Amino acid sequence: MSVERTLAIIKPDAVAKGVAGTILARIEADGFKILGIKMLRLSAEQASGFYAVHKERSFYRSLCTFMTQGPSVVIVLEADNAIQRWRDLMGATDPANAAAGTIRKEFASSIEANAVHGSDAPATAAFEIPYFFSALELWAR
Ligand code: GDP
Repeated sequence: MSVERTLAIIKPDAVAKGVAGTILARIEADGFKILGIKMLRLSAEQASGFYAVHKERSFYRSLCTFMTQGPSVVIVLEADNAIQRWRDLMGATDPANAAAGTIRKEFASSIEANAVHGSDAPATAAFEIPYFFSALELWAR
């Protein structure tokens, strides 16, 4: 097990529902360290760049529109095995398939408006973290 960093996003649906603080409390209770956090509203260009890996998918345009509809909270988390642990806490992409106790089971509205994002691999985290944060913006021991 190694100490990893991952990018988490509390998506616009969850911020609009007023559960950003509840989700942050779950993150802290689960032992993740918050190294960086900011609230921002993604522009169309920023959303399409972030999700460029999905540009051939049928839902790409809709996803990008959803991600620009209001503010998100973007967070860098650190923990042992952070990437997989945060994905386990998020739950399955489609809340209909998400396990009890996961954030998506509790807070997602649909397969698209599914409350949270998490990097899916070390290479993805290495792209996603600097997409939003400079090294100077991340807390370091
Ligand atoms: P994740 O890693 O669990 O977030 O899932 P993916 O990387 O497969 O998809 C990225 C995001 O696209 C998801 O979190 C959803 O917001 C959205 N998404 C995924 N599948 C669908 C779909 O079938 N329809 C729509 N409208 N959105 C989807």
